Amino acid sequence: TQELLLNSEKLTIAGQLAAGIAHEVRNPLTAIKGFLQLMEAQLNNKTYFSIIQSEMDRIELILSELLILAKPQDLKFERENLSSLIEEVKTLIDTQAIMNNVQIYILNEYQDLVVKCDRNQLKQVFINFLKNAIEAMPEGGIVTIEIKKLGTNKLKIFFKDTGIGIPQSILKRIGEPFFTTKENGTGLGIMISKQIIENHNGTVHFWSDKKGTMIEVILPIDNKQ
Ligand code: ADP
Ligand code: MG
Repeated sequence: TQELLLNSEKLTIAGQLAAGIAHEVRNPLTAIKGFLQLMEAQLNNKTYFSIIQSEMDRIELILSELLILAKPQDLKFERENLSSLIEEVKTLIDTQAIMNNVQIYILNEYQDLVVKCDRNQLKQVFINFLKNAIEAMPEGGIVTIEIKKLGTNKLKIFFKDTGIGIPQSILKRIGEPFFTTKENGTGLGIMISKQIIENHNGTVHFWSDKKGTMIEVILPIDNKQ
């Protein structure tokens, strides 16, 4: 337990550092992007311009993922209804899902589960998982999100997709910073999601087989009134 605690503390410090750097780099980057746009008309080499632009977009994507690791003072832990939070996430991602021929189902018998959380951070975690699921189903498929109670003090959110799955050799590596198997991936989504869940005193586990990928998130229920 001691080691676990130390590990998650280390992660938190690294995360805050990453978020801080991302924040500092974003401002000069925005200025550079602005001036680059002004220069476009004067440039006669459009190929170089589009390379610079797409590389800038890539930097922005990485920064925006790192910025999700908020500074502690930006976090707001409040009592939130889990069902409505999950419904909100589904609404947010449904357009993208439908465009990719993916259906998302929520199986939930408990409408009144309350979690003490930073709403935006938890939403971000579930969005990351659903995005990965959609990206793992290029031909379309199904994602189910099942909510279960574990005793009286814990709840389980179980994500299951019908995608390409994760080979055993790779399963060990997901969640390592910058580990990605995608051409345009950042390899930051799962690392960030794990850290957020740990900051909420929860756990995350991944499984995979030929039928797809499963993710189990366990979080404490906030039972007090
Ligand atoms: P990224 O999506 O940018 O690659 P992530 O941290 O979100 O970064 O995911 C890391 C890797 O884990 C992905 O590149 C992919 O190989 C694997 N992965 C994550 N979720 C799934 C999933 N639902 N199905 C298959 N592979 C997945
Ligand atoms: Mg991802």
